[in-house]
Amino acid sequence: TESVDIDRFTAWLRAFAGAIHEHAAELTELDSAIGDADHGSNMDRGMTAVAAALDADEFASAPALFKKVGMTLVSSVGGASGPLYGTFFLRFGGALGEGDADVTALGAALHAGIDGIVQRGKAEVGDKTMVDAWMPAVQAYDDARGDGLAAALRAAAEAAARGRDSATPLVAHKGRASYLGERSAGHQDPGATSTVLLIESAAATLAA
Ligand code: ADP
Ligand code: MG
Ligand code: MG
Repeated sequence: TESVDIDRFTAWLRAFAGAIHEHAAELTELDSAIGDADHGSNMDRGMTAVAAALDADEFASAPALFKKVGMTLVSSVGGASGPLYGTFFLRFGGALGEGDADVTALGAALHAGIDGIVQRGKAEVGDKTMVDAWMPAVQAYDDARGDGLAAALRAAAEAAARGRDSATPLVAHKGRASYLGERSAGHQDPGATSTVLLIESAAATLAA
């Protein structure tokens, strides 16, 4: 059966760091419309620090790897997204065992990660945040799990993108965008956009 080892997890993190770097200007542009124009620079700073940590250290297990990732994001990213992504990775890694993760174990870890984001940020689907991309992604993963890891991750990435787009017409109820009230409607959420990059990176690397 297919399973994900630490090298694939590391490839995922490097791919996400690359995607964030490539899209940093776009993420900041989205945040300039409904926030404070720093989401791209926040995430790029955080994932650059994560990539440096991957270069500097060898990690013996996935939980140890993701603990480092989460703590690096919490400490290097100012703003809402640092603690939220940091919590995701801490919980995700905490739910993994020491060995390789199969499609079921990866699904359980994804659930633990998104539960952490919701506990921390208190956003629900429809509040126009990253949760609008995460929730349908995890649901799609569950639904496609029987078709194997690659199919489940691909379904998750597609659902995340649809979730991101479904949030665009909505009024924000959490985070800085909520300060704009009705004027937040019609703008794509930056955090939902970076979440799509994270899940697309997973689909491109974890089952490769
Ligand atoms: P800040 O808003 O502090 O400047 P960022 O710009 O880096 O932080 O991140 C903004 C993104 O964080 C938003 O687009 C949204 O997706 C996400 N976000 C903000 N608040 C919450 C929350 N309470 N729950 C989930 N996601 C949130
Ligand atoms: Mg911001
Ligand atoms: Mg900010």
